[in-house]
Amino acid sequence: MHHFHYTGPDLHCESVDLAAVAKLYGTPTYVYSAGTMADNFHRLQRGFDGVDLQICYAVKANSNLAVLRHFANLGAGFDLVSGGEIRRVLAAGGDVKSSVFAGVGKTEDEIRLALENEIFALHVESEPELARINHVAGQLGVRAPIAIRINPDVDALTHAKITTGRSDNKFGIPLRHAAAAYEAAAKLKNIRIKGVQMHIGSQLTEAGPYQEAVERIAPLAMQLKATHGITYFSIGGGLGIVYQDALASGQSAWWEALPADRRPLTPETYGAVLAPLLAPLGLKVMLEHGRFMVGNAGVLLTRVEHLKRGAGRNFLIVDAAMNDLVRPAMYDSYHEIVPLHRDSSRRALTADIVGPVCESGDCFAQGRQIQEVGEGELIALMSAGAYGYVMASRYNTRGLPAEVLVQGSMFELVNARETFDQITAREKVPAFLK
Ligand SMILES: *Cc1c(COP(=O)(O)O)cnc(C)c1O
Repeated sequence: MHHFHYTGPDLHCESVDLAAVAKLYGTPTYVYSAGTMADNFHRLQRGFDGVDLQICYAVKANSNLAVLRHFANLGAGFDLVSGGEIRRVLAAGGDVKSSVFAGVGKTEDEIRLALENEIFALHVESEPELARINHVAGQLGVRAPIAIRINPDVDALTHAKITTGRSDNKFGIPLRHAAAAYEAAAKLKNIRIKGVQMHIGSQLTEAGPYQEAVERIAPLAMQLKATHGITYFSIGGGLGIVYQDALASGQSAWWEALPADRRPLTPETYGAVLAPLLAPLGLKVMLEHGRFMVGNAGVLLTRVEHLKRGAGRNFLIVDAAMNDLVRPAMYDSYHEIVPLHRDSSRRALTADIVGPVCESGDCFAQGRQIQEVGEGELIALMSAGAYGYVMASRYNTRGLPAEVLVQGSMFELVNARETFDQITAREKVPAFLK
């Protein structure tokens, strides 16, 4: 469920007319719904009713300071993957003490920053990393709280670039080496063993792989509770969202009309499958979702530059491009694309919806059917709240887009569009060329 819907002919985010936002702040602009994020957070929480739960929002999905503050206000901790993200949480007034630090290549400086800010735990991916953490903790005179990420070797049945729980990818320690890795950790005097962790991939649309992974790791978790006194089990993130029919998913329970195998994995189903497996362990359960929390809470507004009619192929050229939203070019991902102003008297148009960047990969959709729109009219790319702005670049010397947060009838610019001077501020021509 999300809060993007037509009121009359005009697309709104909560009570705000999106055309008004585009008029004030221009395009391309990301618009986020605070209410949708709160709903997602609470649905996930309710799915694990009766379990001691800590939700750590995965900052990498959308790290705008306003978004982080909103999740901090809701009571979330954070899943962090860099020193920069630790600083973002501090800047947003979030709580590092209930946050965790993941990633395969944490530098000494990043580990120090995490420990100085009393991170809840570092999620360790390898034995050399454990030694490094032990070393930095020793320098600071603290014991570093850790959990080891276990790779359960299950197939998350998702895109190859975002599956992480297979034995042939770079993440975590294989299950068969887990006990030995914990034994080794227990011998390090600046390490405090606190939990166990898994994360099997992103955009999962079935509960099966989660269930399989939790069932594989649960016996280890019980053993670690007995031998090392661990207190939590982090089952990672990865819950998928609906990209197709994204607008329809704003209506509650629209999927009930679908056959069971085509229904999206809801937080309710996810909780219903996993909570009964986790509750008997008597451990705190940690969730680290990113995409699910923000994905359907954002859209990218863009303006039509031209409708170029070709022989057998039409191109709708818009002012957003792959540098603003790279997911279609990078993961072949689907985004629903809708007009901001609906007009039933218009004909349907089938077109490739493309940006102005000089690459054929700069294409948001091929052969997409959309209501006919012309120069100057506005459209929205739905479900763009996760892995959107955070992956934006300045390719083609295009400034980073603006970001706006909506709550009810209020909205505010939470990140101004980047100017040319800002893009080039740190560049210079060296003396030897002058
Ligand atoms: C990326 C990541 C997440 C969040 O993944 P989503 O698919 O956005 O939920 C959680 N945990 C770890 C360790 C990650 O790397």
